[in-house]
Amino acid sequence: MAAECCHHEIAPRSGTAFTLDRGDRLTVIDPRGEQVADLVAYNRDDIGEVISSGRTLDYASRIYLTTGDPLYSNRSNVLLRIVEDTVGRHDFLLTPCSADTFRIIYGDTDPHRGCFGNLAAALELYGIGPDAIPVAFNCFMNVPIDAATGAITVAPPLSRAGDRIVFEAETDLIIGLTACSALQSNNGSFKPIHYAIERAAASL
Ligand SMILES: [Zn+2]
Repeated sequence: MAAECCHHEIAPRSGTAFTLDRGDRLTVIDPRGEQVADLVAYNRDDIGEVISSGRTLDYASRIYLTTGDPLYSNRSNVLLRIVEDTVGRHDFLLTPCSADTFRIIYGDTDPHRGCFGNLAAALELYGIGPDAIPVAFNCFMNVPIDAATGAITVAPPLSRAGDRIVFEAETDLIIGLTACSALQSNNGSFKPIHYAIERAAASL
């Protein structure tokens, strides 16, 4: 299994991108608790194929996904599957936080670029532009819905220090991953995110 020594750290309010091969497992860890990580995934052989919130939630007939659930692409192929989840509450409705988020919702006059800007910067290395960034799978983000009115709340994450969610790649992928930059999503403080990759080829 992935050893503790091999955890990568994403600094608070930043992001990264990397590739996975089919069969690789990605573990996203909340090392301190109450910290969100936005995840996006693209087919490495054709970056026009990307994870789709709409298709995934439609096929699941639920908005809260957990162990066993697939993440579908805009072409209805499974790109990732959740294979372990110690929290059971994540969001797949809301777009990555951005300078516009901070301007419109928080009223910031000199806004941070947010997860969106961090993803755009990291994914640029793979030829992926900002307009190709979809609704992210927001690991650990806690978004309760009022069933009667549809009102959306961004509540503190349910994750505690050391909680994790594990994804298995069902095809070769480009992944973007952040330590979320929005105060409300992270119960008022910015913390790092850890991740580890278990290579399928290495376990043969
Ligand atoms: Zn964010």
